[in-house]
Amino acid sequence: MAPISITVDSRWIVIGATALGAAALLYQARSKKLATVWWVRKHKRYVHAATKPSDLIVIADFDATITSGDSEQCHDLLGASKLMSKAFRDDFAPLLDWTTNVAIDGVEWWDTAHGFMVKHGMPPRQLIPRLVREAHMEPRPGALELLKKLEVMDVPVLIVSAGVTDVIEEFLRQHGALSENVTICSNRLNYEADSAPKSVSPSPPITSFTKPLAYKSASSFFAQHSSRRALIVLGDSVTDVDACENVPHDRVLSVGFVNSRPDAAAHAQAFDAVVQGSKGSLDPVTEIVEEISPPTFVRRSISKLGLSTSVGAPSSAPAMNKGAHPQPKKN
Ligand SMILES: [Mg+2]
Repeated sequence: MAPISITVDSRWIVIGATALGAAALLYQARSKKLATVWWVRKHKRYVHAATKPSDLIVIADFDATITSGDSEQCHDLLGASKLMSKAFRDDFAPLLDWTTNVAIDGVEWWDTAHGFMVKHGMPPRQLIPRLVREAHMEPRPGALELLKKLEVMDVPVLIVSAGVTDVIEEFLRQHGALSENVTICSNRLNYEADSAPKSVSPSPPITSFTKPLAYKSASSFFAQHSSRRALIVLGDSVTDVDACENVPHDRVLSVGFVNSRPDAAAHAQAFDAVVQGSKGSLDPVTEIVEEISPPTFVRRSISKLGLSTSVGAPSSAPAMNKGAHPQPKKN
């Protein structure tokens, strides 16, 4: 039997490859659309051009920053879960009514919420994994990739949150992101030897309004990493940028997540860059971190040439204007 020969016109190969390339670009563009980043202060894009991995600390909020903007937040899921006792939920409900709660703007909210947890013994310690698993709480797109990258680079991450440490730890654990480089500065339920919480620490609590206290509250973390003077700060509330307020540093880049807020003006004032949308991606932050830690083959080539290991900055990138970082506007 004569062999079958198939002839393919090389033009079709070129057309096919072009179509595949176009499809890949379209897919990439579609992904990037979810990660729309708005550079409020364009020169800050390259503020970490000279930063080495050994210089860097990342300070991040948790609720609606590491998690997506439409996720349940720590106190919401504890206060409203059907897994909690009815008496606890009844007491807690007025705290979650954002339209009528007059104490919302103060530390009193956290004190009241934590008081109800201790009074009702909620949540039972053994229920926390199920509470987190069944909650509508998901990582922001790109969050797990960023955390993995920081773990591989051995960059310390401080999560400063007005939420609940036990919930944050469990969430990170369930997503394989509770690595050794991560420290959580939030409100911890103290169970002692019981299954019901006996107290919540610290006192006063970590709230959205007391983030400048992070330097003091996480003093051992900052003492351990005192030689690191380059910061990336991430948050969705304008007060989240306050977490770096008292931290000694040479360079800082802040990124704010607007989520579904209709007006980004306050974020534009508080942060160097803002990311739009409840599912706005953390990929732009990972890109910056990757520039601090270029791939091995780039590092090898650079070191062979005897150049600096920092890449990604154009020679015209202006140096950071010290003191230019605006004070956040409280809202
Ligand atoms: Mg938040």
